[in-house]
Amino acid sequence: MATMQLEIITAEQQVFDDEVEMVVAPGIDGQLGILPHHAPLMTVLQPGEILIRKEGEDTYFVVSGGFMEVMGNRVTILADACEHSDEIDETRAQEAVERAKERIEHQDSDVQLEQVLASMRRAQVRLNAVRRRRTRGPRQPGAGDAGGAGSI
Ligand code: ATP
Repeated sequence: MATMQLEIITAEQQVFDDEVEMVVAPGIDGQLGILPHHAPLMTVLQPGEILIRKEGEDTYFVVSGGFMEVMGNRVTILADACEHSDEIDETRAQEAVERAKERIEHQDSDVQLEQVLASMRRAQVRLNAVRRRRTRGPRQPGAGDAGGAGSI
């Protein structure tokens, strides 16, 4: 099985560095599926899930935004924040949503509103990832490709 190198880094740490078979990431214009030897590409990422397929097993991370570069059979994701779906604290995300809702009711400037909406979006993506994971379970090796993967 062909592979490519995937590295995910934030300002704080290296989150992932390994050979993988496929990456699906939330590009600014929609989901982007990357296979080995993909053409060079650079894109902004929006808050969403990153699917990583390695040895037929799928792993999910949540990214809160950032950049993705594909070059020379190497994918580099520079993330604002990025957590493995198992590491997401559901209560914290739920509280962040509630806090954002309260702030929207009491917001007093457009700048603040944008920040609050962004924070709500991050928290909502984290919650969705945790909830989806409960119903999704691990993918079995040999099963079909990820649904919803966009351009390759
Ligand atoms: P909060 O308001 O709960 O702090 P936030 O959206 O402001 O959330 P970020 O600025 O996106 O948080 O991230 C700060 C750090 O906290 C990052 O390292 C991120 O991975 C981590 N983080 C944020 N929310 C969660 C969560 N619900 N579960 C686990 N880690 C989280």
